[in-house]
Amino acid sequence: MTTVQFWGPDFSALAAEDPEIADILLAELDRARSGLQLIASENFTSPAVLAALGSTLSNKYAEGYPGKRYYGGCVEVDKAEVIGIERAKELFGAEHANLQPHSGASANLAVYGAFLAPGDTVLAMSLPHGGHLTHGSKVNFSGKWFDVVSYGVRADTELIDYDEVRDLARTHRPKMIIAGATAYPRLIDFAAFREIADEVGAILMVDAAHFIGLVAGKAIPSPVPYADVVSFTTHKVLRGPRGGMILSRAEHAAKIDKAVFPMMQGGPLMHAVAAKAVALREAASAGYQAYASAVIENAQALAAALEARGMRAVSGGTDTHLALIDVRGLDVTGAEAEERCDAAGITLNKNAIPYDPQKPMVASGIRVGTPSVTTQGMAAADMDLIGALIAQAITEPASAGDIAGQVQALVARHPAYDRT
Ligand SMILES: *Cc1c(COP(=O)(O)O)cnc(C)c1O
Repeated sequence: MTTVQFWGPDFSALAAEDPEIADILLAELDRARSGLQLIASENFTSPAVLAALGSTLSNKYAEGYPGKRYYGGCVEVDKAEVIGIERAKELFGAEHANLQPHSGASANLAVYGAFLAPGDTVLAMSLPHGGHLTHGSKVNFSGKWFDVVSYGVRADTELIDYDEVRDLARTHRPKMIIAGATAYPRLIDFAAFREIADEVGAILMVDAAHFIGLVAGKAIPSPVPYADVVSFTTHKVLRGPRGGMILSRAEHAAKIDKAVFPMMQGGPLMHAVAAKAVALREAASAGYQAYASAVIENAQALAAALEARGMRAVSGGTDTHLALIDVRGLDVTGAEAEERCDAAGITLNKNAIPYDPQKPMVASGIRVGTPSVTTQGMAAADMDLIGALIAQAITEPASAGDIAGQVQALVARHPAYDRT
C-alpha cells in the first residue's frame, strides 16, 4: 500500500495566497471565542469535523448514490457515504437515511417534493408561534407553492394546542402534517401527532432540526418511531457540519432519495457527507450523551436565572436546549435587548413570543440556547452568572464595557477551540 500525505486544512497556504480572506477567518474565530454565543441554532464543531469539511472530498462529483453514480472515481466517497448512512440508521434506529441535503431547508424541500404536488394542503406550526420559514411562510417555497394551514400554541399555557391540531386536520384533510419548530422550548407529543395523522390519512413529517442532537444523545424522546419522515439540520445541537439529513421508513426510501437527487439537488457535497459521518460517530459516544443532558440542564438553569431577574420564560421554562424569554418585564423590546447584549459581547437573537403585539423585526422576546456554551464546558453555575450579565446588559446599557470584560473572563475560563 502506498502512503499518501494528507493534504488537510493548511492555514499558512491560505494566509500566503489570500491574506484578505485569511484575516476574516481569524477575526471570526476571535469573535466567536471572545464573546458568549447563545444563538440556539449554533454550536462549535470538533476539529475532526472541520478536517473532513476542509478536505479534497470537496472536489469529487458524485451525483447519485453509493454504487449507482453518474460519475467514475467514486470508490472512496462511496465508502464515506455508506458509513455515514449506517451510522445514522444505527444511532437513530431508522430504516433509511439520506445524508445528501445541503441544508435543513433543502431537506424540507425534498420532503415536500417526495410526498406532495403543488397546491396540496399541509398542516404546520405557525411562524409567529415558533414554526420555521419552510413551514408555510409566504416568502418561502412552502407558502408560495402549497396551501399551508397553521396551528399554534394556546394563549394560556403557550403549549401546542393538540385539540386545535386535530380540529384543523379534520377540517382541512392535509396530505402532510409537520411537527417541529424553531422556537418552541418544550417536548412535542409525537404520539399525539401520529394519531391525528392516521385519523386523516396524512404523512407525518417531523422537522427535528433544532432538537435532533438531544435525541442522538438520548436526552429526550425520539420522533423516529412515530414519523414517516424526520428531517433535520446537522449543525445545531448535533454539532456536525452545516447541512441537512433525512430519516424515513423503508417504504418511503426510494421516494426520499429521488426527491433529494435528482429532483432538488445535483452533486452532493461529499466533504460535508464525510463530515456528517464523523459527527454521527461522535454523537454515538458516551461523552456526547453527557453533553446532551448538560445542554438541557444548562438551558433550564439559564431560564431560571433570567426569570429570577424579571424576564418571563415562555411556557414557564424549557425541556430542551433553548428558552424563549419575554423581556417586556424589563421595559425593552426584543430588538433593544439583542442590541444591548451584543454591545456587551453576548450574542443572542430577538424572537417573537406567542401572540406578540410587536412586529417580528422588533419582537417582545429573545431566544437563548446553550449548545455552544455547553460545548465550551460551562455548567449550571455559570448559567446564573450569564443570566446576571444579560440582565445587567439590558438594564444598564452604559456599563456594556464592564460587562464585556466579565464575559471575556468567563469565556477565558472555558475557551472554545482551546487545543494548546
Ligand atoms: C434551522 C431550521 C431549518 C433550516 O435549516 P437551514 O440549514 O438553515 O436551511 C429548518 N427547520 C427548522 C425547524 C429549523 O430550526
